[in-house]
Amino acid sequence: MLLALSLGLTAAAANVLGGFFIVRRDWSRQYLKYFLALGAGFMLAAAFLEVIPESIRLAGRSAPFLVLVGYFLVHFFEHTLAPHFHFGEETHTEEMAPQHASYAALLGLVIHTFFDGVAIASGFLISTWLGGVIFLAVFLHKLPEGFTVASFMLASGQSRRVAFGASALLGAATVVGVLLMSLLHREVGYALPISAGVTVYVAATDLVPEVNREPGVRMALVVFLGVALMLALQRLFHM
Ligand SMILES: [Zn+2]
Ligand SMILES: [Zn+2]
Repeated sequence: MLLALSLGLTAAAANVLGGFFIVRRDWSRQYLKYFLALGAGFMLAAAFLEVIPESIRLAGRSAPFLVLVGYFLVHFFEHTLAPHFHFGEETHTEEMAPQHASYAALLGLVIHTFFDGVAIASGFLISTWLGGVIFLAVFLHKLPEGFTVASFMLASGQSRRVAFGASALLGAATVVGVLLMSLLHREVGYALPISAGVTVYVAATDLVPEVNREPGVRMALVVFLGVALMLALQRLFHM
């Protein structure tokens, strides 16, 4: 669990670093897009090849339903409560009702990042391999996640300080997820399949549309690179 906690802290630090991209205008944001694409491919491969099968072994016939619950949990908090939310840089200031819209989006992302932490801890409760895979899946989308929230807060008229604080809050929610799950380790049969659903939503519904907005094939190819990375790790460590 110490390993889960230190990796949870690493993921949280990536959230904060992502938030820095909005404060530091001179940092190139091109790299964030590659993390987004790589993360999407890796997360989907990890969810379908490792986390969902393990969830079924653990929770049996209730696993598919819990995966669905996880999926729609994010849909509800990120997109139903906050009507205008997308991953990446926020440029549609005119569509956003100031202040309360940004807090609704922040709440949605806090719930999602809480499950990022729950997922890491749940993985380590099963095996170091699964925990490592889930950590990588979380880590790869943490930079764009921190950037997204900071950008969203700025676009709704918040100060840079609040925007940066929001990315730190996402990091904190991830750590709380790890800590809570290490206390409630008996509930891993619920937490793992719900985390799988959360992962599928974030990858397929939040990240892939952002990837597809990019012109050209390069970003789409990077998604396959994410899938290939997962397959390569399986061959190396988990045959
Ligand atoms: Zn927008
Ligand atoms: Zn996340």
